Amino acid sequence: MCGIAGFIGKKCAEEELIESLKLLEYRGYDSAGIAVFNKKNIQITKCAGKISDLEKQVENKSSICGIAHTRWATHGKANNINAHPHASNNKSWAIVHNGIIENYSTIKKDLSDKGYVFNSDTDTEVIANLLQANNSLHPIDALIKTCNNLNGSYALCCLNAKNPNTIYLARKKSPLYVANKNKCTYIASDPICFASKVDEYYTLNDDEFCIATSKKLEFYNAQGKIIKVSSTKIQNINSCADKQNYPFFMEKEINETPQILKNLVNFYKNNNIFSKYDLNFIKKYNKVVLIGCGTAYHASLMGTKYLQNFARIDAQANIASEYRYSNPIVDKKTLCILVSQSGETADTLACCELVKKLGGTTIALTNVLYSTLAKNADYVLPVCAGSEIAVASTKAY
Ligand code: GLU
Repeated sequence: MCGIAGFIGKKCAEEELIESLKLLEYRGYDSAGIAVFNKKNIQITKCAGKISDLEKQVENKSSICGIAHTRWATHGKANNINAHPHASNNKSWAIVHNGIIENYSTIKKDLSDKGYVFNSDTDTEVIANLLQANNSLHPIDALIKTCNNLNGSYALCCLNAKNPNTIYLARKKSPLYVANKNKCTYIASDPICFASKVDEYYTLNDDEFCIATSKKLEFYNAQGKIIKVSSTKIQNINSCADKQNYPFFMEKEINETPQILKNLVNFYKNNNIFSKYDLNFIKKYNKVVLIGCGTAYHASLMGTKYLQNFARIDAQANIASEYRYSNPIVDKKTLCILVSQSGETADTLACCELVKKLGGTTIALTNVLYSTLAKNADYVLPVCAGSEIAVASTKAY
């Protein structure tokens, strides 16, 4: 997981981007970087370490357009070179990426044979150079063509040197949101970054693209045709990126647990959720499959105990990364509860897609109601834990 952000408009881009990165630090914190248009040139500043280390290195604060990244490395160590943004060989593109390119080594070999040089160990750098290889096309067509060659997941914010003050976006299986208000465009992996600044936002879906300027957002499909994307009102998106006198987010969040539990019970009572998902609901199914990764898997193990003891229904817990490749037995009598705090866990999302394809019913048990999982599942059970910044799951468990 990484966090990406972008900004274009009549405010200081560097300040806007650093502010967003601080809110995205829960998504990755091994290195960070930004790229801005400095007059007509793309200027990249990046380093291993925390956002606060990056902040000290950002000198020029006069740009109105830029992109930013906070990294949780998947390919290559957490060091200065592997930190994003990555530029193409001739510096015509600078990009930030959240995701994993599964076929990056094949692309890297093809491009190396054509003379491209790679500086980092990341999968991301192949995207920047593939964009450069498509430079004869309009930038949005170059981006679409590049993405058609990628297998894996990506949310991308790209700067093209020939088109200052424009950001090109693409998304597949990693979250990306964009909003515009008062001639300012905000882009981020999580709408918490701009929730207090706009009234509505757009969610890019898989295989959708966007040209963003300060005044306008233009969306495209994978065939390069302009499409209409509907907006979502900003509602119930709060971020608590404030330690409130605790030394660590983890300690603060653990201490919030009693209040969170009270809120949760009240929310379920007041919204009649207990009566909707009652014994009659569960008895329509022969078995319940709980799926999660890491802490969510451990929560699933507890869930199986409750389902068996109280509902007397066969329940199993599965690790998402194994379940998706296990050729599972699922039919319309299977209820699958997908557990993910963020609602963006890639393997859990893949399980949701698989279970739906096999005819099962899916419930997202998630803390983030605007997440991809909440959008894709048949039903949603909110965790109501408020924002969870600590990476080790605290109150959401
Ligand atoms: N794969 C990229 C890298 O290692 C992005 C990481 C991510 O999104 O988690 O730098």
